[in-house]
Amino acid sequence: MSTETADVVIVGGGLEGSSAAYALSQLGITDVVIVERGTVGSGMTAKSSGIVRCHYGVPSLAAMATDSLDTFENAEEIFGADIGFRQIGYVVGVGSPNVEPFRASLAAQQAVGVLTEEVDAGAVADLWPQADLSDFAAFAYEKRGGYGDAYMTAQAFAGGARAAGVRLRQQSPVVDLLVEGDRVTGVRLADGSTISANTVVVATGAWTRGFLAPFGFDIPIRVHREEIVMVAPGADLGPVPVFSDLVSLQYVRPEVGGDILFGNSDLQQIEDADPDGYSNRLTETIRDIAVDKIGTRFPDLTEAAISGGYAGCYDVTPDWNPIISRMPLDGLVLAAGFSGHGFKISPAVGRLIADLVVEGRSRDPRIPERDFRFERFAENDPLTTAFPYVGAGEMR
Ligand SMILES: Cc1cc2nc3c(=O)[nH]c(=O)nc-3n(C[C@H](O)[C@H](O)[C@H](O)COP(=O)(O)OP(=O)(O)OC[C@H]3O[C@@H](n4cnc5c(N)ncnc54)[C@H](O)[C@@H]3O)c2cc1C
Repeated sequence: MSTETADVVIVGGGLEGSSAAYALSQLGITDVVIVERGTVGSGMTAKSSGIVRCHYGVPSLAAMATDSLDTFENAEEIFGADIGFRQIGYVVGVGSPNVEPFRASLAAQQAVGVLTEEVDAGAVADLWPQADLSDFAAFAYEKRGGYGDAYMTAQAFAGGARAAGVRLRQQSPVVDLLVEGDRVTGVRLADGSTISANTVVVATGAWTRGFLAPFGFDIPIRVHREEIVMVAPGADLGPVPVFSDLVSLQYVRPEVGGDILFGNSDLQQIEDADPDGYSNRLTETIRDIAVDKIGTRFPDLTEAAISGGYAGCYDVTPDWNPIISRMPLDGLVLAAGFSGHGFKISPAVGRLIADLVVEGRSRDPRIPERDFRFERFAENDPLTTAFPYVGAGEMR
């Protein structure tokens, strides 16, 4: 059986693994192999809503999100490819119980460079004339926000990495980590071949827990099935921005072709799922929730109708934030558990992974590696916002 060598092997060619490969290549580390069991972006990346916003109460995440905007905005120049980024703006609204933490969060976001501002209901009514805004108490607007296409973005990262010399193996499941003593020395593929490497980056998303369990790691990632609903609005919406409604707990954005993409932001109840065997079909329950929430928030859309839907899986950690961490096995770096919000930060995630590989630490003091360390769960020191909201606590 063939044996290959590389400086770095990346297991998983999703958004985060591809971004890591690209970031490594930009640091001059090109003896890298991405090993993907399907094709680039074919995992949960392909299901992403792609929403881009910086509204995080965790400063390191807000910094990662705002840094990532440069990549989204300049993708054409950087990759020579369209990544489907549509900078249509982002509006977030909260009810009265959340006004205080909301304003504190905005100030903290601005302190790390996020371009966000509080706006009044009149300004939001101009942006989303179809919305009933009566039960909101405060809004913010990010004009650099919008949405992108996560699949196209993963392809762009992988393409950019390949152009710099990174190798890509698709249709190649990794079945084993090679371990000698207390260090990882490479991977074994399903065809029996091996790739030895100084560093193995595991970026296997929803498949991570099962993948690392045989090596004694209990990775606290639950796989949660999440449905997305497409709505034909029955009217021309005009140039509306992404709207994150933290009162009724929904997000909506226009979809290419004129539909509205609806996501339910009520994540109190997790629906456990098997990433290799979940139903892709819309359920009555979510259909009803979408009809109710859209009908209430957008009463003027009297002709709106459900036009479709599908499901994907979130890889959810106990604090709803990712693990981007060197592991207690030398040479192993883990980047997983993006908990349904890994698109908007993906360019910065790749850079942090590259820093961990090369330096063992983050080179950006605003993004301390400590925040994302694997050990935080065992230490009962979760990564959570200093400005929690009532409801919608996750991902903020
Ligand atoms: C429905 C939905 C909506 C979302 N909406 C948003 C949003 O609006 N904004 C946002 O920021 N984020 C959003 N996200 C989250 C974001 O899309 C994900 O966090 C991100 O795409 C995950 O990328 P990943 O590389 O970690 O995982 P994946 O894309 O799943 O990649 C992991 C890869 O590992 C491969 N793999 C697994 N096991 C092996 C193995 N043994 N050998 C080789 N390869 C292997 C898989 O095939 C897969 O391609 C959403 C996610 C979903 C599901």
